[in-house]
Amino acid sequence: MTMRDSFNRRIDYLRVSITDRCNLKCVYCMPPGGLRHIQEDEVLTDEEIVRIVRIACRQGLRKVRITGGEPLMRKNITGLVSSIKQTGVHDLALTTNGIMLSGLAGKLKKAGLDRVNISLDTMDPARYRAITNGGSLDRVWKAVEDAARAGLSPVKINVVPVRGLNDDEIPAFASLTFENDYHIRFIEFMPAACDGTWRRDRCVSSAEVMERISALGALERLEFRGRGPSRNFRIKGARGVIGIISPLSDHFCAFCNRLRLTADGKIRPCLFSEIKIDMKTPMRNGASDSEMEKLFCKAVKLKPRKHLLNDDITSSGHLKAMSEIGG
Ligand code: SAM
Ligand code: SF4
Repeated sequence: MTMRDSFNRRIDYLRVSITDRCNLKCVYCMPPGGLRHIQEDEVLTDEEIVRIVRIACRQGLRKVRITGGEPLMRKNITGLVSSIKQTGVHDLALTTNGIMLSGLAGKLKKAGLDRVNISLDTMDPARYRAITNGGSLDRVWKAVEDAARAGLSPVKINVVPVRGLNDDEIPAFASLTFENDYHIRFIEFMPAACDGTWRRDRCVSSAEVMERISALGALERLEFRGRGPSRNFRIKGARGVIGIISPLSDHFCAFCNRLRLTADGKIRPCLFSEIKIDMKTPMRNGASDSEMEKLFCKAVKLKPRKHLLNDDITSSGHLKAMSEIGG
């Protein structure tokens, strides 16, 4: 079974936010005063998440990414990973800040997790504390090593370069690929409800990232974009891969294959659209699987042709923190 949206894009990827809570408060993601959280009883239970994923799988879902908030803060995360894997998804990945990953990496792998992305924006401990509001860089490095050892590979490291904050480290991050088979993914800084941290002049465009990296050696293009947002390169002689993700300067909406499920049970067909389809209320009111399937298909059909990031969305007043919608 294949799901197609109204623009004939194949939809086979669901990002599932399992909590909106986080143990860090990254400056580019959350407002300094923190967020009002979803009430406990509004957050989907494990059984509800698994039911939605199972229904989506019957419609043609192939890939799930678990995210948040910080997904590893959720109780019974290994049990949830195992149940999601058993729905039949082919590829199960998780995005984490890495703070709690070290002791869990082996268990998550055993439970059926295929890969992890670990967010890391600086290699300087003091800067890491400042960016994340108190996080420990040592723990994240240990998590990167333990994840690789556990076979959660290739380990992908997500870097959001922000001008004046960490953009001087772009070459150092890219250089990690000489010795390690990590994927270093540079993601353009997107507007989010982080109270004034986002400004267009603080975004480092993918073109600029490429220019700074090219000083390290010739860049070999690895593949066409395929169906994901990342354009991949290898510096000549390096072991790892560099991924360039350009939601602002070269948006990939024409290739977009994803939907998002928020922690409180809403399908968002596009990260930067206000369209939401509530799955939780009908489910808690006793909807049958076929009624749920219809709702899911409706969400697929409502996916907009493109996002509005370049149409001055920052002034529209409905931006959400990335931790609320799963990045
Ligand atoms: N807490 C986990 C983490 O940090 O990996 C998962 C959730 S986080 C919202 C998912 C991804 O969104 C992270 O890689 C983070 O760097 C990215 N992100 C958050 N705010 C962003 C922004 N304003 N622009 C671009 N990426 C952002
Ligand atoms: Fe938390 Fe991830 Fe957002 Fe940082 S990027 S505040 S770790 S949700």
